[in-house]
Amino acid sequence: MIDFTFSEEQEMFRKAAREFAETQVAPKIPVMEETGEVSDAVVKALGEAEMMALTIPEEYGGLGLGYVARMIALEEISRVSVATAMMLQVFALGIEPIVKFGSEELKKKYLPGLAKGERLATTAVTEATGGSDPTGIRSAYKKEGDDFIVNGRKCFITNSHIADTITILTKSEDDPKAFCAFVIDKDMEGWRATHKEHKVGMRGCNTGELAFENLRIPKTQLLGNEGKGLGVTMAAIGDVGRGGMVGCALGLQAACLEESIKFSNERVLYGKPISALQGIQNKLAEIKIDLEAGRLLAYRAAAMQDNGIRCSNEFAVAKYFTTEVAQKAAKMAVDIHGGYGCMEEYAVSRFWRDAAVLGPSAGTSDIMKVIIGRWVLA
Ligand SMILES: Cc1cc2nc3c(=O)[nH]c(=O)nc-3n(C[C@H](O)[C@H](O)[C@H](O)COP(=O)(O)OP(=O)(O)OC[C@H]3O[C@@H](n4cnc5c(N)ncnc54)[C@H](O)[C@@H]3O)c2cc1C
Repeated sequence: MIDFTFSEEQEMFRKAAREFAETQVAPKIPVMEETGEVSDAVVKALGEAEMMALTIPEEYGGLGLGYVARMIALEEISRVSVATAMMLQVFALGIEPIVKFGSEELKKKYLPGLAKGERLATTAVTEATGGSDPTGIRSAYKKEGDDFIVNGRKCFITNSHIADTITILTKSEDDPKAFCAFVIDKDMEGWRATHKEHKVGMRGCNTGELAFENLRIPKTQLLGNEGKGLGVTMAAIGDVGRGGMVGCALGLQAACLEESIKFSNERVLYGKPISALQGIQNKLAEIKIDLEAGRLLAYRAAAMQDNGIRCSNEFAVAKYFTTEVAQKAAKMAVDIHGGYGCMEEYAVSRFWRDAAVLGPSAGTSDIMKVIIGRWVLA
């Protein structure tokens, strides 16, 4: 039998995540929107609420709650602030290669601090020459005894200026097919966060560049085998990265639906609320249909992940669908609001800008179709 119900614990967790988002995150949105900067108070609150500990195993100080719980948390936080959900999603993406490929020594060194929110994580793969095609990266390593010396630049990195524990992908200076993934931290000299991006949406989530200048990395910081780093980072992006973006997209859709219902019940035209108009009801129905379909895709893939079943293809389907329909939902929500939808006082204008930023992270919709195409032809 297929059981589509959430357990009592999961429902309670959803309630707690919603309350957290509404009380700890929502009040900070105006200043995040105004400045575009990360709210220190939100980061602190995420740590205190153990939101950073969700996917970290209990033996390393985490909660070990897994990926359905993470999907619930991201959906609820994104319903209030996509920017905050994005920060949290990439945080887990940065941690995953340590959990899955790190040595015992690396796990003990980093995971307890990350679980408490004392350390902040990210993953840095993308470069100007390597986005959809990560093999095009130019951040190069060369070996010096047991150390690796890395030079290069990364771009579009979430949490670039707040993370102090970063999983990075580099390529051999000598062999274009050999990649190494490392974890670097703030105590190492030779890297710094440089340019900060100003995004149209997800303001309050930091995105920027990193520069590596003769960064010396001891061999002990290697994640997975030497030369096999591409698999290490892409495995994490395939399920944790895509799954995280799915959670962000679901929350945004839910928010679009709620705000649209509220507005259409309040806005009176022709002597009655516009929710009485069938044209408006059709739009609300479309958002609801997409949201429910997206939830099925999302939680199925997350449940597979919790059960150790390969799920990167299922997440590609979910990522494609939910990020596309989230953009559609945001446009419909703005449309339902008429002229008010274009005004900053109305949350849907923020949703519209946030929706535009959902697409590229963890792979564009074109790339999801490439993955799905390969899957169906395999
Ligand atoms: C807000 C935000 C946060 C991000 N956070 C991170 C992060 O934390 N860490 C990180 O490493 N990266 C991050 N990224 C980078 C993200 O992963 C890349 O932007 C994404 O992979 C696309 O790469 P690109 O921007 O270089 O676009 P390109 O790869 O240059 O793509 C340009 C266009 O070509 C299309 N295209 C490419 N290949 C194909 C194909 N085979 N078939 C059809 N069309 C194709 C694309 O879909 C796109 O439309 C982030 C990006 C954003 C916007």
